[in-house]
Amino acid sequence: MEDSYNGDLSGYKRIDRFDQKVTEQISDHYSEIIQLLGENVSREGLLKTPQRVAKSMQFLLQGYDQDPEQMLRDAMFHEEYRQMVIVKDIEIYSMCEHHMLPFIGKAHVGYIPNGYITGLSKIARVVDAFARRLQVQERLTSQIKDCIQNTLNPLGVAVVIEAQHLCMQMRGVQKQHSVTTTSDFTGAFERVATREEFIRLISSK
Ligand code: ZN
Repeated sequence: MEDSYNGDLSGYKRIDRFDQKVTEQISDHYSEIIQLLGENVSREGLLKTPQRVAKSMQFLLQGYDQDPEQMLRDAMFHEEYRQMVIVKDIEIYSMCEHHMLPFIGKAHVGYIPNGYITGLSKIARVVDAFARRLQVQERLTSQIKDCIQNTLNPLGVAVVIEAQHLCMQMRGVQKQHSVTTTSDFTGAFERVATREEFIRLISSK
């Protein structure tokens, strides 16, 4: 039943790329984990769960196979535009490296070109490539900033991420609605006026 959906959910199109051996190994470990947690791994509903989780985890952490700097280099265009370029509300689905639980939110990225621009969708792909790893929100923010700075060499880069962490919401302090905001800036964005313009632009609906 569930297999028949595979072709339709864009998220699962990559299933064929999963290494069979790695999937089996991860699956065996999950089988053991489920038993250690007190469940009966051979009851009907759980029969295929270890394998599903193995594939799902590989999908959620596919960023290790991706090279974000190369993604930008492949789509760099010479252009004299020197105003702020902003891509806002990029969806983030990442995994906290301390609890291996999701953190979910939005990234806003801005840069001021210095001779080169990139495809706007590439910025979103860079965010995704770093998000699909075991992460902390602070490092994710800086890695996106560094990647753009190192490849496009713009006059400045700004990255703001707002996210909700399931490890905070489901366990520990159980702060259900708290949002964590992180930001990192280079170059022109270190000037207060430029940074404020960026913040104003990403805050407008
Ligand atoms: Zn956590």
